Amino acid sequence: MADVKYIFVTGGVTSSLGKGTLSASLAKLLQARGYSVTIQKLDPYINVDPGTLNPYEHGECYVTLDGAETDLDLGHYERFLNVPTSQANNVTTGRVYQSVIEKERKGDYLGKTVQVIPHITDEIKRRIKLVSAGNKYDIVLTEIGGTVGDIESLPYIESVRQLKWELGPQNCIVIHLTLVPFLSTTGELKTKPTQHSVKVLLEEGIQPDILVLRTDRSLNTGLKRKVALFCNVEENAVVESVDVSTIYEVPLNMLNEKLDQTVLRKLGLPVYEEPPLTEWREFLRRLKNPKHFIKIGLVGKYVELPDAYKSISEALIHSGSSNECEIDVEFIHSEEITDKNVADLFKELNGILVAPGFGSRGIDGKIYSARYCRENNIPFLGICLGMQCAVIEFARNVLKMEGAHSTEIDHKTRYPVIDLMEEQKSIIDKGGTMRLGGYKCIISKGSRAFEAYGKTEIVERHRHRYEFNDKYLEDFRKNGMLPVGINPESNLVEIMEIPDHKWFIGVQFHPEYSSTVINPHPLFVQFIKACIMK
Ligand code: GLN
Repeated sequence: MADVKYIFVTGGVTSSLGKGTLSASLAKLLQARGYSVTIQKLDPYINVDPGTLNPYEHGECYVTLDGAETDLDLGHYERFLNVPTSQANNVTTGRVYQSVIEKERKGDYLGKTVQVIPHITDEIKRRIKLVSAGNKYDIVLTEIGGTVGDIESLPYIESVRQLKWELGPQNCIVIHLTLVPFLSTTGELKTKPTQHSVKVLLEEGIQPDILVLRTDRSLNTGLKRKVALFCNVEENAVVESVDVSTIYEVPLNMLNEKLDQTVLRKLGLPVYEEPPLTEWREFLRRLKNPKHFIKIGLVGKYVELPDAYKSISEALIHSGSSNECEIDVEFIHSEEITDKNVADLFKELNGILVAPGFGSRGIDGKIYSARYCRENNIPFLGICLGMQCAVIEFARNVLKMEGAHSTEIDHKTRYPVIDLMEEQKSIIDKGGTMRLGGYKCIISKGSRAFEAYGKTEIVERHRHRYEFNDKYLEDFRKNGMLPVGINPESNLVEIMEIPDHKWFIGVQFHPEYSSTVINPHPLFVQFIKACIMK
């Protein structure tokens, strides 16, 4: 079998230039040309995984099928490539040091001084290679988090330098993403930040093979030539990436710029036929030519940073496109919702999605939202904590269980309708200890959920500690909120719905994590359909 080829994507000048989108787009094109590709993210922070990071600071924590809590960029990788990622696809400095220190304690380095070079860099290189163990992929694309020049990314850059040397130029290339800003006062595009950023990379021992320049307007050949000359790359290896209205256009832009062809040529791989990307183009066509227009309220407490709900926002885009519907998502802070203003806040909305979350802040607003939707026949999708709030509301207002709550918020409640899972009771550590990853769920025939999925057996991803308390199952069933999805092994309730309502579903799992461009999530698709009909 041929050797695995490695592509590294680094970023310069500033953060937030879209390394994740660029990586996902390039991988998409290589996949469309017939190569098997996976994408990996190396994150320079010391948390072992982003599970313990506040979504305000770092955006959403994405969960893989195998139960890893990872960086949100892995969500982009899956949404673009339509193939699952795993624990190995996200490496953090915390994880790298954890392994090295564990080995040191076991005595694996007995007698040696354990150092960043070679021990940390060896561990980084091992993890880069691990993702394609058994030559599972033709190409591994690895995105290095942060911006070159950061102190904390140095060991990663050094590992890439070593790999480039060890594997040879035909097996390993570096793409550097930078910014070419436009100065409005002089009316000029400026290449100096790019030159400086490449210089930093050179100081760290890496000559980039390809430069991708983010810009708000098209660059002329003269400017590309100048960058090529001063940064020492081939002229056709300078690629422009102009701002677009949706990230899903980036693969097509990169195709126009022949980025995939340049990459394959540099890696000595044959350039198979130009990919038609039919489904992708069709997705974009529908997205840009909507026949319907709706407004959805997204109720959550991390609304200041839209990245905190990245997968939900993207799943709405996917399901909007499949319904030929433009969706205006209004982020509503759950702390601002009261029983008095909820009617006013929701009056122009076609449907409400209550987001996942942790802790007590803003919980009342979520409960009011669920009540308002239930009583006013407004399409409702509650995800994880969102489902739990719908259950609490139903218990309080329909079953008349005054003060019913989740023991996460009120551990003394008389009616603990949501309670800690048995397996969680003895756990004290916070990191990586929730019920995480894919679990089976059996759906009742004839339910709305069944109508959406079209099958009885599904697997969905989880990230929670609390669950619907079985003790109350009969009360709910008798009064019209039905458990229509059950885990066959543990009997945990996974889906609750109110059949006597236009569309009211709460799910304990996270459907948003598995929605992709090619396979929009069925629950989102049906939710949007119901909203359009409202
Ligand atoms: N805090 C709730 C629990 O742990 C819900 C978690 C979530 O919404 N992801 O069960």
